[in-house]
Amino acid sequence: MKRTLSILGSSGSIGRQTLKVAECCGHDVAAITVNASVERAEEQARRFKPRLAVAVDENAAADLRVRLADTGTKVLSGPEGLLEAAALPQADTVVTAIVGVAGLRPTLAAIDGGKRIALANKETLVCAGELVMERAKAKGAEIVPVDSEHSAIFQCLQGCKNRGEVRRLIITASGGPFYGKSCEELSLVTKAQALKHPNWAMGAKITIDSATLMNKGLEFIEAMRLYAMPPEKIQIVVHRESIVHSLVEFQDGAVLAQLGSADMCLPIQYALTWPERTAGPAKPLDLLSCPPLTFQRPDPDTFRCLGLALACADRGGTSTAILNGANEAAVGLFLEDKIGFLDIARLVERALDRVPVQDGPSLDDIFEADHAAREAVYQSVR
Ligand code: MG
Repeated sequence: MKRTLSILGSSGSIGRQTLKVAECCGHDVAAITVNASVERAEEQARRFKPRLAVAVDENAAADLRVRLADTGTKVLSGPEGLLEAAALPQADTVVTAIVGVAGLRPTLAAIDGGKRIALANKETLVCAGELVMERAKAKGAEIVPVDSEHSAIFQCLQGCKNRGEVRRLIITASGGPFYGKSCEELSLVTKAQALKHPNWAMGAKITIDSATLMNKGLEFIEAMRLYAMPPEKIQIVVHRESIVHSLVEFQDGAVLAQLGSADMCLPIQYALTWPERTAGPAKPLDLLSCPPLTFQRPDPDTFRCLGLALACADRGGTSTAILNGANEAAVGLFLEDKIGFLDIARLVERALDRVPVQDGPSLDDIFEADHAAREAVYQSVR
C-alpha cells in the first residue's frame, strides 16, 4: 500500500533510512523536518519534493527558505512548524524520528490528526505513555513501533486477539560496546569508545544510551506502555549478535521470535505497510552465515542506568519523565566532554532523589518533571 509520509526528523539516522524505504517502495513524502541541518534538508527537498519543509531553528529556516525559493516546497520554522508538519492534512502517516521529549507535542498533534504514527521516538512513550496511548485510542490513531525490539514484538503478536494469551514479552539487548566490563573499567571508557556500537549504526544520543544500557531501560518502559504489560511480564535478555530482535512467550509455552539482519529499514518499512508486507531495501538474513545465537542475563548493578530505569518502571507516575529528562541532560553533557561515562548514571540517580514524583500526571506535570530533572542535573555539575 502506498502511503504519504510526514517525516519528523528527516536528517537523522531513522529519517534518512525512512527516505530510502520511501524511494525503494514508492511512498510519497509530503513533509520533512530538521532541526538545523539545512544542506541535508535542501538535498532531501529537491529529491522528494515535499510540500512542506521545516527547520526548527529560525536562522536555519531563513537559509532554507532562500535555498528552496525556486521549488514548490513551503518552508516553516520553530516548534509551530513541527506541529504543522505533524498534522499536515495531505499526510496519512507520520514518522516520529525526533530525539527526546521534544517529540511529545508533535506526536500528540499527529494523533489528534488521526494519522498512523510510525513511532521512532521512544522518549514520548517513556515520559507520557499512558496519556499518549489513551489519546491514540480515543482518536483512532494507529501507533506502529519502529524501534526494532518493539517492531519484533508487534510482528509476533499479529494474530493474537487476546492479550491474556501472552505470558511474557522478551526484549533482546545487544549489551552495547562495554558488555562484560566492570565498574572500574567503565570509569575509564572514552566518548569515542562509547560512540562505537558493535552492531547498529545510530544517532549519537541513542548510541550513548546503548552503551549505558539506559536504552534498554527506556525500551522496557516503552514496551509496558505500547502493550499494556506490567513490568513482571517483561524480561530483558542480552543477545550479543542482534539477530533475534525480540520474542513473545505465550501461555502454552510457545515462544515466537522475529529474526533479521541489523537493518532498521525493515522495522521502518513494516510500520508503513502493516498489516501488509512488501519487498524492500532491508538486507536479507543468511542463516548459514550467522554466528551462534547466545543469550545471557543483563547486569543492572554494573550498568546502573538499566537498574534505575527498571526501578522507575515499577514506580510509574512522573518518575519515568524524570529519568528521561535527567538522562537527556546528562548524555548531552557527556557528548560535550563535560562529564565522564559513569557520571551519567550518577547524575540521573541524583535527579531521581531530588525531584518529587507525582502520580497520575497531566501533560503539564510531565513537562514540569522533565524540566526539574534537567535542572537537577545542571545544578549538580555547576
Ligand atoms: Mg531498539
